[in-house]
Amino acid sequence: MIIILFGAPGVGKGTQAQILADELGIAHISTGDAFRAAIQGQTEVGLIAKRYVDAGDLVPDDVTARIVEEAMIKPDCQNGVILDGFPRTRAQADALATMLSRIGQEISCVVNIEVPNEHIVQRLLSRGRADDTVEVINNRLAVYQQETAPLLEYYSKLGLLKHLDGVGSVEEVSQRILAIVSQPS
Ligand code: AMP
Repeated sequence: MIIILFGAPGVGKGTQAQILADELGIAHISTGDAFRAAIQGQTEVGLIAKRYVDAGDLVPDDVTARIVEEAMIKPDCQNGVILDGFPRTRAQADALATMLSRIGQEISCVVNIEVPNEHIVQRLLSRGRADDTVEVINNRLAVYQQETAPLLEYYSKLGLLKHLDGVGSVEEVSQRILAIVSQPS
């Protein structure tokens, strides 16, 4: 089972991905978390990623696809994976398709968590992460619109896209997501 949690920065992908992974007993891969850990640990990837993450720009596709591929071949991914924050560009979506076909897996569904913009900025500002300043948030939202939102059409055409109302308590939203991913496709 491969589930992609999709949505703008601040819609709650990370929180929901963790809950869903625990409920379904599958792995959670967050590229944002992976980059933050790499930056903290000053690894080679971290040294490359830092300036992009600090500015709210996308880390280059090849670096990003490589960390996902390394994570996906680990044994804890055997039952399935929730991808949180990946793919974010068409090149990453293509890299994912190649990776999955190589290991004989398919995307089960892409859940688009929808939250109005005014809620998003409030949520991000209250989180207090280093890249949650007004300037960087605005850049991340613009990058999302330009690079990532077009993937909605791509996954819709593949018949994989499900829309989800992301406004409500964490529990309400996670119940909605569980209901959606449990539906037969
Ligand atoms: P997130 O935790 O998902 O908000 O991601 C934080 C930052 O990590 C983003 O602003 C990007 O700089 C970087 N990042 C996370 N995922 C990706 C990705 N799929 N492609 C490129 N950069 C990413």
